[in-house]
Amino acid sequence: MSQLTPMMQQYMAMKNQNKDSLLFFRMGDFYEMFFEDAKIASRELEIALTGRDCGLDEKAPMCGVPHHVAETYISRLVDKGHKVAVCEQMEDPALAKGLVKRQVTRIVTPGTIIDPGALDEKTNNFLASVYFDDYGAGISYVDNSTGEMFTTEFIGEIENSSRFLLDELGKIMPSEIICNNGLVDNKKIMSTIKVKIDPYINLVEDPSLNIDSSLKLIEEFFDGDPNVRNRLKGKVYSAISASRLIGYLKDTQFNRLEHIMELQHYEPQQYMLMDISTRTNLEIHETLRSRERKGALIGILDKTQTAMGGRLLKKWLEQPLLDRTQINSRLDMVEFFVDNPITLDEVREILREVYDIERLSSKIATGNCTARDMAALRQSISQLPQLKSILDSTELDNLQRLQEEMDPLDDLYKILNETIIDDPPLSVKEGGFIKSGSSQELDELRSSGSMGKEWLAQLEQKERQRTGIKTLKVGYNRVMGYYIDITKTNLSLVPDDYIRKQTLANSERYYTEELKRLEEKVVGAEEKAVQLEYEIFQELRDYIKKQLTRLQKTGKLLAVLDCIGGLAKVASANGFTRPKLNNRGVISIREGRHPVVEAVIEHQLFVPNDIEMDNRENMLHIITGPNMAGKSTFMRQTAIIVLLAQMGSFVPAKEADIGIVDRIFTRIGASDNLSQGESTFMVEMTEVSNILRYATKHSLLILDEVGRGTSTYDGLSIAWSVIEHIADHIKAKTLFATHYHELTQLESKARGIVNYTILAEERGEDVVFLRKVVRGSTSQSFGIQVARLAGIRREIIQRANEILSMIEGSHTFNLHKPVMKPNQKQLDLLDYKKDFFIDRVKNVEVNQLTPIEALNLLNSLVEDARNLKE
Ligand code: ADP
Ligand code: MG
Repeated sequence: MSQLTPMMQQYMAMKNQNKDSLLFFRMGDFYEMFFEDAKIASRELEIALTGRDCGLDEKAPMCGVPHHVAETYISRLVDKGHKVAVCEQMEDPALAKGLVKRQVTRIVTPGTIIDPGALDEKTNNFLASVYFDDYGAGISYVDNSTGEMFTTEFIGEIENSSRFLLDELGKIMPSEIICNNGLVDNKKIMSTIKVKIDPYINLVEDPSLNIDSSLKLIEEFFDGDPNVRNRLKGKVYSAISASRLIGYLKDTQFNRLEHIMELQHYEPQQYMLMDISTRTNLEIHETLRSRERKGALIGILDKTQTAMGGRLLKKWLEQPLLDRTQINSRLDMVEFFVDNPITLDEVREILREVYDIERLSSKIATGNCTARDMAALRQSISQLPQLKSILDSTELDNLQRLQEEMDPLDDLYKILNETIIDDPPLSVKEGGFIKSGSSQELDELRSSGSMGKEWLAQLEQKERQRTGIKTLKVGYNRVMGYYIDITKTNLSLVPDDYIRKQTLANSERYYTEELKRLEEKVVGAEEKAVQLEYEIFQELRDYIKKQLTRLQKTGKLLAVLDCIGGLAKVASANGFTRPKLNNRGVISIREGRHPVVEAVIEHQLFVPNDIEMDNRENMLHIITGPNMAGKSTFMRQTAIIVLLAQMGSFVPAKEADIGIVDRIFTRIGASDNLSQGESTFMVEMTEVSNILRYATKHSLLILDEVGRGTSTYDGLSIAWSVIEHIADHIKAKTLFATHYHELTQLESKARGIVNYTILAEERGEDVVFLRKVVRGSTSQSFGIQVARLAGIRREIIQRANEILSMIEGSHTFNLHKPVMKPNQKQLDLLDYKKDFFIDRVKNVEVNQLTPIEALNLLNSLVEDARNLKE
């Protein structure tokens, strides 16, 4: 019976330990994959599938990638949703006795990848760990590329904790989740996670892990930091999810985890809450239609100069604040820069020279950095003194404090500057990047290297004289080393002490004892110098590693400054103003604009609008108005202005006084949301149900065409009762856009409900959108005019107008009473009756009727026709 070769047995053993990963098996200059892995990789990477004898009758399918480009291939596989286990040769194959020792040294997963090519520089890449059961949920998450780690939890009924879970995950958007059975078994949550977040999912169950062992593991991981235990006191869900996260990191990253230095805990209620659909509907990170960053709020708002600033801005947008003092502290800084544009430009100029300190220092700590990274770090640090002095001269407390907290890292700059040359090469294994003067030993090695070269030149001169061969040359190549080259014609003059090394077509090559000694000096010195450079580099790396906390802190402060500066820039460029904040529940905006829509409508001017809302007389606005009037835009702009104000940004309005809200909810009617492929009425109702369950008096509700996903009467009834419920029980500030004109009757029926409409005018055949929001209501929908604008053919438009006047002709038109147009059901019935009537007439067989029968039939047909007309 055939048996696997020893190497393939070694391979299988490793594969068995890493069943869920593609195994990159190092063989010489290649990483090879075998069997099923090879098939998958060759398909995903479009590389050739070959075979290799493995001891069995059939060859093992195989494919491979050269080691020096492996990172790119690994990233591509991970990007396609695979995990990759990298197995290295642990000894030099040339020296190994028997089978080369091999070992898996890292596992690259979507949530842990740190290859810069695979990461978006302005987006965190989070790996999340979720622990979920009937009584609560804990989430811990980490960005392996920056070292940040967070944890939060929720305890309560399963409905509430699943809500919490989805809201948080919607904010974190992890690329990978570690979860327990409690989560995996919950089909409803899992399917939402898959549709809305689409992370790589790992099921990790470790029954032996309890709260005590969890805390112990966490504490050990953070080097006995006593704060960790205090912070997690009584937080069972946080602790268990965090310890699983750490366990998974250890399993996949082995010991490259020193950059993760702190576990930050927060309560979900610390920030304004938004669910995934609200984030999507407000187009914060990407547009609904094309899912692009351009055209989304972040596209307008992100004017940061550094990757760190960009990532922080995203966090601020995702977690608007609730505390007035905190918000105002950000606003003070933004205002300062708006008022001092020259200072702002100076600061931004400097920030442009700053690299991603967070990711650089993580790279250094995990040991996978180059001398170039260190040069980038040095360059960044070199900007700090000037930056600090500008901030110091600002006379704004907040900025001065920020300046004081910012560690200038002088010592690091000094050592980096003394050690690393200005423009170092990519590789640290070939030397040539340590400055001369930084190590005496290195300088000596280098000079004996270069002196050796001089000696060799002298030797050539000397030997020419001694032998009288004018063409004698001392040469070098990689394989043979140094040699003395004598052409064939001069062979008779070769002295006795020359030892033959190599015979070529036209010459012989020799060496002498003296040449050999010099060669050892030159080559030895160069090799030693390269080796020494690497050692110096490692020492420097270790030194920097010890300064990680300081580096990370400075990085964070730079990010804050960059964010503030970016917001100030946006504010000045787009005419934003500083919002006031209140806790009275009043939202009062004068001349508010939608920051994205106003940026994309070219040649036309955006029409600003006012809004006044409170929790009393002006609580629930019912907004009617024709299609395309601007209802959705107006409502979203209100939500965005509130969101911007609470994150500490200026807002697109002439004046704004914002009552702080605890949550923003939006529901955009099914018909507006087709692009997401979830037009079903069920989804719409699920979201409405969530809103009704979780909204409070302090929330802001945006309901856009709710009830549209079903038939008219159903939809109207649902919309009606939802509004009643909000007005009577929740009492949340609400904007409700609707095409059900009937709903405007509610204004007189419940306190707090007011009608608004967006003006449009009919001018001849056209409709002119005035885009002004005013008190009152309208029943005109201008649908046909809009259809005409959209280019529907003239005959069809004419016919539609005829039908409309026929339908309207049968009703009295009254501006004050709601207009009841026949709805779809009624129209359908009419059609049905007509068809039936025509069929009856068509089927009459006139020849076979007696006169009396004919008269009777005629009578009944006339009666039917009359009925039909009514
Ligand atoms: P509705 O929801 O009433 O059908 P939308 O809010 O979707 O209308 O607006 C339709 C289009 O009208 C928008 O895409 C935008 O181009 C334009 N628009 C909306 N509001 C304004 C405004 N205030 N000023 C200028 N153009 C606007
Ligand atoms: Mg709309």
